[in-house]
Amino acid sequence: MALPKLNNTPKYPVVIPSTKQEVQIRPFVVKEEKILLIAMESQDPRQIANSILDTVTSCIIEDVDDRTLTSYDVEYLFLQIRSKSVGSMSKVMMKCKECESDTEVVVNIDEIKIDGEVLPKKIKITDDIVLEMKQPTYRDIAKNENVVGQGNNMDRIFALIHESIDAVQTEDERISFSDVPHGEAIEFLESMTTEQFTKIREYMEKMPAIKHTVDWDCEHCGTHNTITLEGMQSFF
Ligand SMILES: [Zn+2]
Repeated sequence: MALPKLNNTPKYPVVIPSTKQEVQIRPFVVKEEKILLIAMESQDPRQIANSILDTVTSCIIEDVDDRTLTSYDVEYLFLQIRSKSVGSMSKVMMKCKECESDTEVVVNIDEIKIDGEVLPKKIKITDDIVLEMKQPTYRDIAKNENVVGQGNNMDRIFALIHESIDAVQTEDERISFSDVPHGEAIEFLESMTTEQFTKIREYMEKMPAIKHTVDWDCEHCGTHNTITLEGMQSFF
């Protein structure tokens, strides 16, 4: 005798932040949650990133090309899917700025928004060199060993910048940055003056991201704390 099929899965509308396309999501099922938990336990950033991308693409009902999903799209969609799957309240441990003790703070995932703006794509570096910037896709970041590998934080930031530059325009050519070997790209970035590099940093810092301000009273010393959490991983 065959067991009955269980699920008449509910669907919820959600808007993809970068494209404003409306799609429908469903909660993840136990099989998918298991894969996620195994990835989280591994603490391997690449395995975690891949399992998150897989979850997001399989829980969107419509066919969405994952090459169009930016990093903040995937983080936002994942939070929405997680909220519909295991509930919108997430408990996070927050450290007090005064006494450094932890207090458990409850965050409502449904209130988390995307904050930031996409600045003009072109950054003038010198009179005849212009950088064309882009919003890196989550997929590109997830498979970039220099971002999700074992390197230090600075290496990661440079690798993210590498992924965010679409092309270098000179007076007579346009060099696609994805064709530039990583070492050469880093050398190019490192040869910039602080002023030139600041323009790139500004673009990166303004880039839309998941942000949420939480405030709480420390349960050990009573100090009122306010902090802005950034990035999906801050909310679990
Ligand atoms: Zn305290």
